[in-house]
Amino acid sequence: MSERSEFLNTIDAARVPARSGATFATYNPFTAQPWALIPRCGPEDVGDAVSAALRAFNSSAWRGLTATGRGRLLARLADLIEAEAESLAAIEVRDNGKLAMEVKAQLRYIPEWYRYFGGLADKIEGRVLPIDKPAMHAFTRHDPLGVVACITAWNSPLLLLTWKLAPALAAGNTVVIKPSEHASASTLAFAELFERAGFPPGVVNTVTGFPDELGEALVRHPAVARIAFTGSERGGTSVYRNAADGIKPVTLELGGKSANIIFADADIDNAVNGAMAGIFAATGQTCIAGSRLLVQRTVHDRVVEKLVRLAATARMGDPSLPDTQVGPVTTLPQLERVLQYIEMGRSEGAQCVLGGKTPNDPRLGAGWFVEPTIFIGVTNSMRIAREEIFGPVLCVIPFADEAEAIAIANDSPYGLAAGVWTSEAGRMLRMSESLQTGTVWINTYRAVSYMAPFGGYKRSGIGRESGQEAIHEYLQTKTVWMDTSGKVANPFVMR
Ligand code: NAD
Repeated sequence: MSERSEFLNTIDAARVPARSGATFATYNPFTAQPWALIPRCGPEDVGDAVSAALRAFNSSAWRGLTATGRGRLLARLADLIEAEAESLAAIEVRDNGKLAMEVKAQLRYIPEWYRYFGGLADKIEGRVLPIDKPAMHAFTRHDPLGVVACITAWNSPLLLLTWKLAPALAAGNTVVIKPSEHASASTLAFAELFERAGFPPGVVNTVTGFPDELGEALVRHPAVARIAFTGSERGGTSVYRNAADGIKPVTLELGGKSANIIFADADIDNAVNGAMAGIFAATGQTCIAGSRLLVQRTVHDRVVEKLVRLAATARMGDPSLPDTQVGPVTTLPQLERVLQYIEMGRSEGAQCVLGGKTPNDPRLGAGWFVEPTIFIGVTNSMRIAREEIFGPVLCVIPFADEAEAIAIANDSPYGLAAGVWTSEAGRMLRMSESLQTGTVWINTYRAVSYMAPFGGYKRSGIGRESGQEAIHEYLQTKTVWMDTSGKVANPFVMR
């Protein structure tokens, strides 16, 4: 599959180009060369995809399926993903430059989301209400919403999609997927598996292209009932605004500026490893990047020294090779943005103690690389400490004590995640209570699971993905009242 050079959308189980016939090139960030063509869709393609999804939603093939039947389809899909993991991973690596090692691990894990939510599909139960009115029976049921638009970012296309798709389908919705224009290919290959798994036509559809050409049309389409979005704060704000006009619920998984906090009583070697994992894994292009490293003053110099020594050994290279540790940045504009932030850090008075430029290494060719970069002497008011850089740039900020660590960590517009490195049990609990973030990792970093709710406080987003509660993002509650008296009541009095 990875050798293909042209990809098509899936609409109503057919493989289709854009109606206009237009395409755009998708780039391999390691070679900086285009490698495949993607359909460049417009509102007319959105119309086709949403109509197909709506037809499927109302079809007996989908509506008539029991929840257990939906669960079985999701389990079958999980098996197919397992069988296709290698080829899907190869496509994704070529398209977004993420390490093959990481993408393969994600693809081995992704099937578990489909199994988990497939298993949950037939455990969604309404309740009989012990209603306080005589001769009245009342119960609740949980209905699907209809057509869900799933809009994803480029940094982990299939994982981010899975977090939406598995609960949305388990709940009985149908979907239209819009992957990022910077990394659409793996999603298009993935969409072809649904038919093979036995999903009825139209349950899963895709459209590809640019936000200004089709994004708004998708969000505003009257038959789209909900939007599940992962992306930037800017994109999320625009989606939220457009959804508001249609009174549509949204899930927004947005950016972060997460604090990774090292206390003096931590196992320093572990903590330094955790700091590395927080910022240099995935070349810092993760929403949960631990991009602010808060270090207790008494161990600050020791931590920085170890960290710089370790980070300097990180091997940049071809992301498809197993020993590469840092791959390229996914897009050229993103590379330029990261370099601008590095310049900004210098001009704000922070001291760059590692990296700070594009590498001068002929083995990296024309790839969009930036060196792992560490700034010390950062204050939390600097823009490099407040704004999401989305690249391998770490800001080290010293603190005196627990109270100051909490104050600095929480002094951020974002609230996606935080890491705490300490050996004191009481502090672990105090910190997990005080940090205003959707996830707190203690003596670990960047752990996710299908069982664990994930999402942001503050400007990091709305709603939760994964875990049992995620399926309720894709359901609506209906209350059913039945009068069992057989008598017509006084119509002018509320029952
Ligand atoms: P982006 O907002 O530019 O694009 C995300 C997706 O939304 C793309 O598919 C894009 O085409 C689409 N889009 C953008 N504007 C739109 C609009 N107005 N209407 C409809 N669709 C629109 O984000 P990006 O640069 O692709 O991704 C990077 C961002 O994603 C970072 O901020 C990162 O933190 C965030 N992210 C968050 C999570 C999370 O779970 N919280 C996970 C990964 C990435």
